[in-house]
Order: sequence, then structure tokens, then C-alpha cells
Amino acid sequence: MMDAAPDPNAQPAYDEAWFASRATAGVRRLKAYDPGHDLVALRERFGELALVELGSNENPYGASPAARGAILDELHALHRYPDPRGGVLKRALAEKHGVDACRIVLGNGSHELLMQLAQVFAGPGDEVVFSQFGFAVFALATQAAGASACVVPALGVDDPMPLGHDLDAIAAAITPATKLVYVANPNNPTGTWFARERFARFMAAVPPDVIVVMDEAYAEMADAAAQTDARPLLEQHANLVITRTFSKGYALAGMRVGYAMAAPELVAVMERVRESFNVNGPALAACAAALGDEAHLAWSCERNAEQRVALSEALRSRGLRVPPSQTNFVLVELGERTSKIEAALLERGVVLRPMRGYGLPTYSRITIGTRDENRRLLAALDEVLA
Ligand SMILES: *Cc1c(COP(=O)(O)O)cnc(C)c1O
Repeated sequence: MMDAAPDPNAQPAYDEAWFASRATAGVRRLKAYDPGHDLVALRERFGELALVELGSNENPYGASPAARGAILDELHALHRYPDPRGGVLKRALAEKHGVDACRIVLGNGSHELLMQLAQVFAGPGDEVVFSQFGFAVFALATQAAGASACVVPALGVDDPMPLGHDLDAIAAAITPATKLVYVANPNNPTGTWFARERFARFMAAVPPDVIVVMDEAYAEMADAAAQTDARPLLEQHANLVITRTFSKGYALAGMRVGYAMAAPELVAVMERVRESFNVNGPALAACAAALGDEAHLAWSCERNAEQRVALSEALRSRGLRVPPSQTNFVLVELGERTSKIEAALLERGVVLRPMRGYGLPTYSRITIGTRDENRRLLAALDEVLA
């Protein structure tokens, strides 16, 4: 018997698989970003004060009081659209970084910019190169754009920079089909970093028609910032894009503001797809004010650096392996029992970020909290490990 021809008037299933089949090639195979835990439900269950939230690399010291004041000053204008150019914030950033404002593009978080860079520069048939254990958004952005990911094996666990980017291998993985390379310095979730001279040699090896995106989300927190910061390379390399964020050092994750610095001509192309009012008015005001409060930034990064040393030592003294970090989190190797330990900690109201999705199932990522939060984490960990 012959198969009946499909009935053109049949009602589609309208299930997720059907809608996915109608989506563009990239979206068809895309999996949504995994935020880790349902924090709203956890806050309801434990109460905000009892919960120790160390899963999302947030800055526990809070934003500058100047940023809070600036948000209040914006409340009279909620019915107005924000400045589509973000002029005030861009000028403040330009001054801070000693670059021209036309080299800056603003994003609703740097997440948005990382996605937009792939949308603009890579599509079906193109390759995007990034490291194994590189920031999760690199893979998402590549897939959403319908481009092919070329994932380069990371450095080994016994390397001085365990699980870090292998820049030689990344450069070697570039082919004529490569449009974009993503690197992060320091990287999340590994905390690893590399020196600017090393990166300068990498840039010299990259073909000049390949765009390199350098994600510096943790720049403000790195002790070695003076040695890692790629800004001095912008003048020489028109194919270099540096992304930064107000979410980490400036403790403004809830405001969703990031920015990219690049050649003015590259910025002009990015502007073509930027949603006109992508950064809201209170957020623009808060970030401009935060830039003016360098003392708060320095204070908060110093506290973080202090606690980073203390927490790393405390974890190591318990026999746990903790790779070096220059960020506000540490990766800790918990071994075969990792998921059980994470679940037991969660029962005690301590939230870490599981690393299974990153292919690091024997590790957990712990945001460095305040001294009190870290003490509560260690007390719970001691109970669980006993
Ligand atoms: C947190 C983080 C970001 C910042 O994301 P936003 O969207 O700006 O909040 C970007 N890159 C890395 C590597 C990060 O860890």
C-alpha cells in the first residue's frame, strides 16, 4: 500500500518540536541557557537571609551608593524612552578607558553583546573557535547564529593554568572558514588567565580578517589586571573586540549593562542590529554614577581578593584541589561525590553552581562570598564531608 500524502490541511501538533522545526537552522538545535537553580523558589523556601547564594558570581558587597541615588533620580522619567545612544555613559566610559566614545557599543549585559557579535559576524557555513570550558555563552551564540563551533581542547589539569585556554591550539584551529574567535581572560568557569604579552603573540598569529572577541568580565577583579588587560592592543588590531560588564566588579548585575570596545567601524556595524533602547534609563544612570565612585569599586575588589585567598586556603586545607583564580569565584574539585555534596549543601541552604553542563562533573564553582557567607559555606561543607 502506498503512504497517504500528508494532508495539507491537517492541524500541526503545535508542540515544542513542531515550533522548533519552523525555527531557523541555528535555533532548531539550540538549548536554552541553564541558569543553574530556581533561586526564586529557593529564596521562598529558606528565606533570603538564610540562603547562601554562591552560584552566580554576583558581587555580595553591593553597588555604589551613588548608583542607587542615580536610579532614584531617574524615577520621574519612567514614561520617557532612554537615550538610545547612551551618550552620558559612553562618554564616562571613554574617559575611563582613554578611548574615543565611537569605539564603544552598549549592551543589555555583555551577554547580549556576545550573542550579537555572532549574529553579526557568523552564520551557516562559518566557523567560530573557542576553548573547551570557555564561557557558556560562546557556544550558545555560535549555535543561535547557525554557525559551526570549533571547540579547542583546554590545557590539562596539571598545567600551571589547569583547564585554561591553550592559545597556540586556538590559533592553530583557525581555518579559512573561521569568522570569529571567543576568548575570556580571566575565564569563567575555570578562573584561568593569560598574560597580555601572550595574548599579543596570539593576535599576531591570527589572520587579520578573523574577529577576536576578548571577554574581560572580571577585569576589575584581577590582581594581575595590569598584565592581562588587552586594551593596549585595540589600536594595533582593528579585528579585536573587548567586552566588559557592570555585573561583576561594579555589582550591578540586576541592571544588565555591558559594553564592547573595538574599532569605530566595527562598532558602526554592530549598531545596525542593536535594539534602539537596549539599555534602560535607570541602568544608564546607575552605571555612569558607579564609574564616578572608584573608591567603592576598589573597596569591593579588595574585599573580594582578601576572601579569595582565605576561601582558597580554607578549601585546600581540607584536601580539596582549587585551581588558581583571579575572579570572584573558585573552581573546586569535589570528586565522584560532587552531585551528592552539592545536593546536601543545597539542603542546608548553600547554593553552588554545578559544572556537569560544562563537562566538569567532578567540579563545583563557588562564588566568593562575604567573610560570613564563606564561613557558613565551610561549616556546611564540613558537615557534609564528615
Ligand atoms: C558574568 C560574565 C559575563 C557578564 O555577563 P553580563 O551579561 O554582562 O551580566 C560575561 N562573561 C563572562 C565570562 C562572565 O562570567
